[in-house]
Amino acid sequence: MIDTGVNIPLQEIITDEIKRRDISLQVLRIDLIDGITGGNKYFKLKYNIEEASGQGHDTVLTFGGAFSNHIIATATAGKANGFKTIGVIRGEEPSVLSATLQDARAQGMQLIFWSREKYKHKNEFENILELEKHFGPFYLIPEGGSNKYAVKGCAEIVKEIKTDFDVACVPVGTGGTIAGLVHGLRGEQKALGFSALKDGGFLEGEVLKLLHSYEGRNFDRVAAENKIKIVTDFHFGGYAKYNNELLAFICDFKKQHNIPLDFVYTGKMMFGLLKLIEKDFFIEGTKIIAIHTGGIQGNRGLGEGSL
Ligand SMILES: *Cc1c(COP(=O)(O)O)cnc(C)c1O
Repeated sequence: MIDTGVNIPLQEIITDEIKRRDISLQVLRIDLIDGITGGNKYFKLKYNIEEASGQGHDTVLTFGGAFSNHIIATATAGKANGFKTIGVIRGEEPSVLSATLQDARAQGMQLIFWSREKYKHKNEFENILELEKHFGPFYLIPEGGSNKYAVKGCAEIVKEIKTDFDVACVPVGTGGTIAGLVHGLRGEQKALGFSALKDGGFLEGEVLKLLHSYEGRNFDRVAAENKIKIVTDFHFGGYAKYNNELLAFICDFKKQHNIPLDFVYTGKMMFGLLKLIEKDFFIEGTKIIAIHTGGIQGNRGLGEGSL
């Protein structure tokens, strides 16, 4: 994959609540990289694609849902780098494909559909073997793209923050992105995650596992635990769940600050982050970076005109 080659903008957010506390909040717009493959998925895939090449593969296979940012990002990055791509999609094949899956197919991705029941067991040996029998050898990227190569790539997000900061905020799904951030932090800097899942209590453990898989013998669990916190109060009912309050917030945020947010990840993070500022979660003077991980394409799942 090519280098981002662009200066990723930091966009300042000013509200009365922020000013009153002398806090600074800037949004790192990694969502602007490379269109649909942009956001955190760009960083998560970068070294996976490199590894797939290094291992001599010509095919990449991965898993995801009908509106998955990871699926469309893998399809696009795979094509750009000369790979065949296969997407194993959760749920039965619908009569009309989602916009995301249509785009993935347009990028040459071959789609197969597994029932929700089978999909739950996607990582089991027999199921992977069945895929290999059917498609031949492939480089497997896990659902959401989180593995040690994703951690390596996401550590580079920190290098794109070309200013001092105390806390970097990011939405959390499978944890690979925040694991990378933790690896890239310096000194007293902290990573604050916002769970996109309902029962996100297990996520910190997942992040530590991912970090360990990348750092190996250099992994310092206690140091890592001190750098990371994942808040679980802003999931709005669970993964991809939403209500009118969230959608109204997203519309309003766009009007006020001219930054689009998605309803699965970044909308919930920004909602939660502004609430935490109001509740004095951060001490005065804290310098906060919110990482805009992208995902706007997923808003098409809400239907025409909803956002
Ligand atoms: C995938 C995704 C996330 C979650 O990243 P993880 O590494 O799985 O925690 C956050 N935001 C957006 C927009 C995403 O597409």
